[in-house]
Amino acid sequence: MTSIPEKGAYDRGALEADLEELRGHLDETCAKIAARFDLYFVDGNPRKATIIEVLAKSDCISCIRRKFELPSKVKGIDSFYSENHSLVVSILTEELYSALAQMGYRVSLATEAQSGYGKVDVLLETTLAGLSLKSNGNKIIVEAKTGGSMSWSQIFRYMLEGECDSVILWRVKNKQVLSISRQDALPLLSKFVRAVTLRGNRVLSEDSPKLCDHEIYSAFKPTAEDLESTFRDLSAAVDETLPDVIKTCIEKLDLKGSSQVPLNEAIPH
Ligand SMILES: [Zn+2]
Repeated sequence: MTSIPEKGAYDRGALEADLEELRGHLDETCAKIAARFDLYFVDGNPRKATIIEVLAKSDCISCIRRKFELPSKVKGIDSFYSENHSLVVSILTEELYSALAQMGYRVSLATEAQSGYGKVDVLLETTLAGLSLKSNGNKIIVEAKTGGSMSWSQIFRYMLEGECDSVILWRVKNKQVLSISRQDALPLLSKFVRAVTLRGNRVLSEDSPKLCDHEIYSAFKPTAEDLESTFRDLSAAVDETLPDVIKTCIEKLDLKGSSQVPLNEAIPH
């Protein structure tokens, strides 16, 4: 009889080892899908993020194949929304930088650090989704969501690829700041990797799936009123929740109370 471990009493090392094995299978499946549908970057690497997102978002093999055949149309965000997002990320970056510097920590943005500056307590790097923070071998990703949507597959991909310790999810519109640790996510992360791999294998094994009539790309076109109310909500929500995000980031960075970088090795402020 299989023994079922007690609730919460799982072995992290065993789960990490399982995940590593599952990740190997996922990589193989992604490589086969890339070869079948010609999904490569110019440098020759498979477009893994696209492959995983498409597999995670639909259970219809026909839709998945059509998306793999027309991957460039997957994007198409209205510039209004991408502008909102980059505005919010810029505000967060500067406020966090300033708060950490005022607390006496040596902070740097990745672009500055790459140009040969000294050691830092916290390295900030803006990414497509938000902000990445590194300190004492601790890596945190802050994902700013300015629309109503959120995506577990995206968060799981950070945990798989970025090997981050936690993801802070700033749902600006919902005025919520959630913190998800890798440790808590591990059991579900393994299940996710397995499900995506199984689905990918199904796509590869079904040569002529039944055609469907699902709409694969949303035809949503916001009105001027929609955009105005989105902007109004965003403006109020950023003002209200920014202090919570800054506080959560600083807590999660676990900075030991004072700068760990000797002055002569630090970046100039
Ligand atoms: Zn379909």
